[in-house]
Amino acid sequence: MACGKCLGFHGPMSNYTSLALSIPRQAELFSCRNCGQLLEIGALARFPIFLTPEQARDNFPDGGWTADDPSADG
Ligand SMILES: [Zn+2]
Repeated sequence: MACGKCLGFHGPMSNYTSLALSIPRQAELFSCRNCGQLLEIGALARFPIFLTPEQARDNFPDGGWTADDPSADG
């Protein structure tokens, strides 16, 4: 669940960790340092998109990042 910092994303980017870039999507994947929520920020987007780990893996398949996923097997 997104926290207040996510919902007020206009704050400093230092609140977020950059995890991956997607050239085809022209977007960057971040995680909130406060709650761990995954966010996708498009180059032209004014607001973040909140992603589930499944969505994030689909959108950023080459990111080499990991996210908590209780269904993951190894
Ligand atoms: Zn958050």
